[in-house]
Amino acid sequence: MKLLITASIFFYERDGKGLSQTELRQLALDLRKQDEEYQHLHSQVVQAIADRYYNALEEFLNKQSRFPKEKREDNYNSLVYPQAWMKKRGKLYPNGWKLTDKNKKFKILHLSHLGDFKIRIHRQFPVDKVKQIIVKLTKSGKVFVIFIVENYEFPKLKKTGKKVAIDVGIYRLLTTSDGYYVENPRRLEKKLERLKWLSQSLSRKEKGSNNFEKMRVKIAKTYESRVNFRHDLYYKLGKFFAESYDSLAMEDIKVKQLVSRSARVLRLHLHDVGFYEMREIFKWQMEKYGKEFKVVNPAYTSRTCPKCGFVKENMPLSERVFVCPKCGYVGDRDHVGALNILSRAEWDAPLAPVELTPLPLSRQGLAMKQEPHSLGGMHSVV
Ligand SMILES: [Zn+2]
Repeated sequence: MKLLITASIFFYERDGKGLSQTELRQLALDLRKQDEEYQHLHSQVVQAIADRYYNALEEFLNKQSRFPKEKREDNYNSLVYPQAWMKKRGKLYPNGWKLTDKNKKFKILHLSHLGDFKIRIHRQFPVDKVKQIIVKLTKSGKVFVIFIVENYEFPKLKKTGKKVAIDVGIYRLLTTSDGYYVENPRRLEKKLERLKWLSQSLSRKEKGSNNFEKMRVKIAKTYESRVNFRHDLYYKLGKFFAESYDSLAMEDIKVKQLVSRSARVLRLHLHDVGFYEMREIFKWQMEKYGKEFKVVNPAYTSRTCPKCGFVKENMPLSERVFVCPKCGYVGDRDHVGALNILSRAEWDAPLAPVELTPLPLSRQGLAMKQEPHSLGGMHSVV
């Protein structure tokens, strides 16, 4: 199944059309010879899977315009089950899908046209509130199933009486007004390096050859795992902020504005940071749990003295320390930014110097450890 999807997408990209049903059947039979997963299947079953997949794809391509208009991300092909429920004799039944428990982490999703998938549930959700199901087929052949849930209220989190502002940057992923920071996870950097290396080797392979295709899948996998890692990190940080603070402020700025002002090398890093995405995720997490999210005017936040308000003429990105020529205030550049964002949100900014402390993230940068040193009352985020 997985392999069929990969192959078909690959051919679709190459020729501008998918495989024909016959080609797909032949491919399914070839795969059966190569792949253990298919060995035990009867050849007719393999062909039936190929047919089923072909029909679903055909349907998808033909009726695309009938599906709800979605933002088209170029890394995915999607199948949409737009009506999750149907009414039969006054009762609601799942329409074309069924979810069965396997164990706590895994469920079996039966999708009409496509077959059964063992799926891993990343976030718990109320099954009866599912409005739409989207199946995403990634370039590397992975399948993501997204359940769109409507009219669901998340449990509100306890008030903490704390407000915070966050400055995001290129050198550090983020710095908070109360002196915490998160480095750019090394894992993202490493993946970026690997991507560069893989792309170079891809350019040396003959287009359409076996090695080219293998390399292409490798690149897609690395890219996807980088995006997933980033998303996971942002969601976890967002939840951490929602648990630890009542209000969060960030700059209202688009990635593009920042990009156009920075050097080429920095641009690469910035894209890696996925700043805009991070802000949207933080906003979602804060509001979802009943907390406040605010955006403020981004002008001169890193050039303004948080103590006397003096605006420096120039503050190149390489200058990491802010020194106020008027009142002598000295502070870390990003922390100064966070303090200015905090006061622009009209929240009190503490001016006592702080020692910047890394937010306690585990080695993988995902699971946060319990209890950072001075914030007290924070919860672990898993
Ligand atoms: Zn000053």
